[in-house]
Amino acid sequence: MTTLLLPTGADTGGVLADAQRQLAQAVEVLGYDDGLHAMLATPRRELTVAVPLRRDDGSTTLFTGHRVQHNLSRGPAKGGLRYSPHVSLDEVRALAMWMTWKCALLDVPYGGAKGGIALDRTQLSDAELERVTRRFTSEILPLIGPERDIPAPDIGTDERVMAWMMDTYSVATGYTVPGVVTGKPLNLGGSRGRASATSRGVVHVALRALEHVGLTGPGRTAAVQGFGKVGRDTARFLTEAGVRVVAVSDQYGALHNPRGLDVAALADHVDATGRVPGFPLADELPPADLLELDVDLLVPAAVEGVITAENAPRVRARVVVEGANGPTTTEADRVLEERGVLVVPDILANAGGVVVSYFEWVQANQAYWWNEHDVEDRLAERMTSAWTDVTDAARRRGLSLRAAAMCLAVERVADAHNLRGLYP
Ligand code: NAD
Repeated sequence: MTTLLLPTGADTGGVLADAQRQLAQAVEVLGYDDGLHAMLATPRRELTVAVPLRRDDGSTTLFTGHRVQHNLSRGPAKGGLRYSPHVSLDEVRALAMWMTWKCALLDVPYGGAKGGIALDRTQLSDAELERVTRRFTSEILPLIGPERDIPAPDIGTDERVMAWMMDTYSVATGYTVPGVVTGKPLNLGGSRGRASATSRGVVHVALRALEHVGLTGPGRTAAVQGFGKVGRDTARFLTEAGVRVVAVSDQYGALHNPRGLDVAALADHVDATGRVPGFPLADELPPADLLELDVDLLVPAAVEGVITAENAPRVRARVVVEGANGPTTTEADRVLEERGVLVVPDILANAGGVVVSYFEWVQANQAYWWNEHDVEDRLAERMTSAWTDVTDAARRRGLSLRAAAMCLAVERVADAHNLRGLYP
């Protein structure tokens, strides 16, 4: 009998507990033994680093950063880097685990990783942001590299942060290594279509999911939580596809216009003011109410744990598409399933980002760049094929889309692990 090595906090609730419960359910369906379960549940490597920052005023502030590689069976580790005051080792562990399943589900040849620094981006100047990024990169140098572990943007980070990481790594190695990160600026070997790839993928599966439940044609409505890298383009592409986006929110507040928001004008307003509230062509809405609006489609695209056992009974959307990672707790998932709400899980719904990150890495390693059509066609092909795999498996096994997606992904990782065998 093998003891299951759950990382600290796994039994104390929160996002890691949700990730572990999802894995445990898949392991039960697949009939794996405790030894394999422990291997799948436990990160391969974790590095926690102190990140001292020299402030603009000459003082020093010490931050804590993490990089977790959850699984390496199918290839180098891949996953975003998050800057947020809420970053903790357990959160990074959960997000790294979800990256493993996401990469396997979309059949990109990576394992899963994630990183983060607990910091409030709004409290740092641009120069401080650059210094903290470079110091963190140099602290995690032993882990990262184009054949080892490839970071990308996530909450609070962007293409500038990726450019500084790429430069710091390249200076340390003595030559330019564009393949060490993805989500870079185009001029540094970024891919066309990467910035909007997650949102394109979200909308691709959202339209399929609406069709799946019989909602086609004009008059469909949506609410989007979060108006950052994922939420903003999701609202834009939904509007372009003829879905009326009636509400959006960010960390500062929410807006509602039952006739449909002018998403382009709202994006200009957010560029000018840095926040969603204050937009004149909509009414303000208590942020929690956005999740409970009477819409066809709800896209949580902000942070984890927002649909809970408490508010899930009041969710009126027919379809929930998880733009964010882990927005629905395990208890809420059960409630939504019982109520017949179709939930498209994060590891499928928001996988467009890692798919195009993979395309960026392939292009950088070959030093040959594709045009936007190539990228978008190949992304659509991957998303369609993953959607078909998941819906077929759900039907065949009588499972929810999340359970089916988890089973497919976990099976692929376990298979790779078994084929490689155990060393020594
Ligand atoms: P971002 O930092 O660009 O944007 C986050 C947005 O959420 C901002 O508008 C912020 O104001 C808002 N927000 C924060 N807390 C909120 C709250 N409590 N209520 C409402 N809005 C809130 O981050 P992002 O890259 O758009 O990531 C959003 C989510 O999507 C995260 O869960 C991330 O892990 C996931 N994701 C991102 C990518 C990517 O390519 N960027 C890929 C896959 C998954």
